[in-house]
Amino acid sequence: MASDRTPHAFPQFTTVEQERTHRKQRLAAAFRLFGHFGFDEGAAGHITARDPELLDHFWVNPLAMNFKQIRVKDLILVNDRGEVVEGTWPVNGAAFVIHSHIHAARPDVVSAAHAHSVHGKAWSSLRRPLDPLTQDACAFHGDHVVFEDYTGVVYDHEEGKRIAHALGERKAVILSNHGLLTVGHTVDEAAWWFITMERTCQAQLLAEAAGTPVLIDPDQAAKTAQQVGQHRSGWLMFQPLYDWIVADQPDLLDD
Ligand SMILES: [Zn+2]
Repeated sequence: MASDRTPHAFPQFTTVEQERTHRKQRLAAAFRLFGHFGFDEGAAGHITARDPELLDHFWVNPLAMNFKQIRVKDLILVNDRGEVVEGTWPVNGAAFVIHSHIHAARPDVVSAAHAHSVHGKAWSSLRRPLDPLTQDACAFHGDHVVFEDYTGVVYDHEEGKRIAHALGERKAVILSNHGLLTVGHTVDEAAWWFITMERTCQAQLLAEAAGTPVLIDPDQAAKTAQQVGQHRSGWLMFQPLYDWIVADQPDLLDD
């Protein structure tokens, strides 16, 4: 029997309104998934989506709203001065400081994700990059960096700039003693890199607790990175999660 579903196609838009709605739906879904996976830690954590028209504005979660309850209509729009220009809830100060500098430094980046997930923050205390221990880990091979400073909650714009500078052209940065931060050309991609990076930290912590893991050799790791680390690969990996969370929690699309 033929499936009543169709394969995923990369989205195309004819209007900026369509593109904005799409980004907001993906963003709300990403928060629900982060909540589902337990990446929330009280009011900490933020995912941003650049507005497709007002390129120095971004959509973000309202301060201290539970990830598991966020709907499209709850998302707030923040301008380049950190002012909320759509929505009634305040913005997390650290979200603005970190994400505004990343969005400014990386015009290609549509979305950035950061949360205090357990394995990411545990790994971040080691101040080491992740090793190519698994096929999935190869997505980060040569494409992430450790930001070694820790100076408290990031409210200082100079630190926001230094984090963006450390990230460079990569897809992820490990913020020492703090947690993970990932970026992407779509919300889907940024959210997926975060989810799989958190699990990659978990896998390396498990492997090192059990013994001495054998690394994938550098040539194979580089080849695999080309296979699993592309922007479209990250986008595709998010699609089954999006389908499930929307089917499970359709109110997330309420606008
Ligand atoms: Zn944080």
